[in-house]
Amino acid sequence: MPRPADREAAEKRALALRREVSHHDYLYYALDSPQISDSAYDALVRELVEIEEAWPDLVTPDSPTQRVGAPPSDAFEKVEHAQRMYSLDNAMDLEELDAWLERVRDSLGDRECAYVCELKIDGSSLALTYRDGILTRAATRGDGRVGENVTANVRTVRDVPLSLRDDAGDASVEVRGEVYMPKTSFERLNEEQEEAGQSPFANPRNAAAGAVRQKDPSVTASRDLATFMYALADSRSLGLSRQSEALEWLQAAGFHVNPDVVTCADAREVHAFCERALEKREALPYEIDGVVVKVDAFAVQEELGHTSKAPRWAIAYKFPPEEKTTVLRGVDVQVGRTGALTPRALFDPVTVAGSTIARATLHNEDEVHRKDVRIGDTIVVRKAGDVIPEVVGPVLGMRPADAQEWHMPEACPSCGEAVWRPEDEVVTRCTNAACPAQRHERLLHWASRGAMDIDGLGEEILRRLEDTGLVDDPSDIYRLDLETLESLQMGREKQDGARVTLGTLVAGKVLAGVVESKERPLRRVLFGLGIRHVGSTVAEALAAAFTSIDAIQEAAMTEPDSPTEDPIAAVEGVGPKIAASIRNFFAGEENRALVGRLRSAGVVMRDARVESARPQTLAGLTFVLTGALARHTRDEAGAALKALGGKVSGSVSAKTSFVVAGEDAGSKLGKALELGVPVLDEAALERILEVGEPPAPASGDTATEPVE
Ligand code: AMP
Ligand code: ZN
Repeated sequence: MPRPADREAAEKRALALRREVSHHDYLYYALDSPQISDSAYDALVRELVEIEEAWPDLVTPDSPTQRVGAPPSDAFEKVEHAQRMYSLDNAMDLEELDAWLERVRDSLGDRECAYVCELKIDGSSLALTYRDGILTRAATRGDGRVGENVTANVRTVRDVPLSLRDDAGDASVEVRGEVYMPKTSFERLNEEQEEAGQSPFANPRNAAAGAVRQKDPSVTASRDLATFMYALADSRSLGLSRQSEALEWLQAAGFHVNPDVVTCADAREVHAFCERALEKREALPYEIDGVVVKVDAFAVQEELGHTSKAPRWAIAYKFPPEEKTTVLRGVDVQVGRTGALTPRALFDPVTVAGSTIARATLHNEDEVHRKDVRIGDTIVVRKAGDVIPEVVGPVLGMRPADAQEWHMPEACPSCGEAVWRPEDEVVTRCTNAACPAQRHERLLHWASRGAMDIDGLGEEILRRLEDTGLVDDPSDIYRLDLETLESLQMGREKQDGARVTLGTLVAGKVLAGVVESKERPLRRVLFGLGIRHVGSTVAEALAAAFTSIDAIQEAAMTEPDSPTEDPIAAVEGVGPKIAASIRNFFAGEENRALVGRLRSAGVVMRDARVESARPQTLAGLTFVLTGALARHTRDEAGAALKALGGKVSGSVSAKTSFVVAGEDAGSKLGKALELGVPVLDEAALERILEVGEPPAPASGDTATEPVE
């Protein structure tokens, strides 16, 4: 795509692109029905980014390129809600729900009354303020009167429109709803939390609330949040007279509105909706904990009013807590990839919250004894956060005389070696590096989607490769050839007794997946290595800071002059504990040998865009780039400065060392002059990049403009 010829053409093109991208965001996030491919979408965004880089003053706050903004200050600013954000009264069973329906009926006399039934999303409340159609503020509920300003974080949530769509135009409104974390993301996050040695979130609601209150918006962005919006603080001023109309308005304005909404005429219909919701619950990709019933007509809502805490015109019907009893038949032990031994309860299958479960983790030895569950006991089970199966405890009155206490085995169930539990830890481990169970888990982790994502290399094939001695560590995967894979004998037998082999077709697929995975970005490699405490978030931070595994290894093997100068611990989100674990990993000869074997097998382990480490001659200097440069994009120029150790910031402050101003530089240039920050032109920038030195202090012979 050729660049627009002039500013005017660029402005027109940017506007058209922005509209188009927003429209596809809407189709994708709000309606779940994309009409163009991901790569076509990416191309539109890329073109927009290019124009905005060339003409920075054309960037608008609602541009889809502005989702990740500047990090907010340490604590969140407190903001007052224009209208109070109420909580909801609860109905704990259908009887209480009926009592509420009756109260509403009574106060209505003989007027018709319709109810809107919605799913009660288990997330965190959110208020979005739009001024003239543009998102200006996002706030948490807080205590209902005063919430926290979480705008920078909420902007990263992909289904939150940054500007309202056509019909809503330039409305100024406050929209309310729920921000939530889908079940799969919640489970993945908790796995990462455990891997990083942090305690898991109790339920998706806490996880969503935590993600919205991150200091760093890019962390929020990585948490995969989504929203369902369900209310307008000022519907009446928009000419709306019913909740059902408000929902339609929200959908048309570009918000993600939950599709499971039904207008009901009476208690029977409300009950039917609640029943259907309960049946659906398990299959939904997000967690719900009940149904919210609202009086449809705003006029009636106003008549009914509020108590001090909640509206009288709405009620939250809570699903019955699902706990079931069953019999504990045994406890087995699983060996994880770090050698941790995890006891697991095996019980007679029961249906809880819509799905059948027969096992639940018991976490560790102490937990089993704290809960005092014995084999043969009748136990109570439930789902934690309605997602993860959990043993609540035994029914002591039903304990049979021969109930058996369980103890951690003294030998690893996989390799038979003695297990070990350090005195101050709860986890028992198998420390045998050659333990087959650990090896299997390590390989599975390496190939998994979050790590190297090796297409086609599933659990069964991996196990055969291990059993036949072909694959022992991840580097062996890259030595496989088509012939070996083709003739790999799988477990199943044909009718004539001959073993089934993998075959050319599948082998080809596996091999293609293996080859493709060699080029995965560094963060995936780091995560895949399974270094303790290095989850995918930490891996990403390390990759961004070091850009190659060699640089990390070198840093890990060099003793820092003092603990405060440890370059690994200095990475945002890493710290001394994780740094120690990384040093420990690279101190292991076997681990370094593995990295070496991966390298010689052709696994890249370096992020391409960054040049090999150059002397960090610009360390300590902060640059701000503004305006259009003729020979570089600002991204390129920024990356080049960073490669020399410089910092690049988006805003000018007294701490800024230099402002590089291209053509059409706007307010940042003004700010620089105001603060007395030296300003450089593109030629001066090129000299810096060439000689790797900042210009001498303003004395005349460089491009630095003297400023008074
Ligand atoms: P609770 O916190 O259990 O008292 O429930 C009240 C909260 O439910 C509200 O503050 C909302 O955040 C949340 N909620 C979830 N879904 C809905 C919905 N469809 N309508 C209204 N509130 C909802
Ligand atoms: Zn073992």
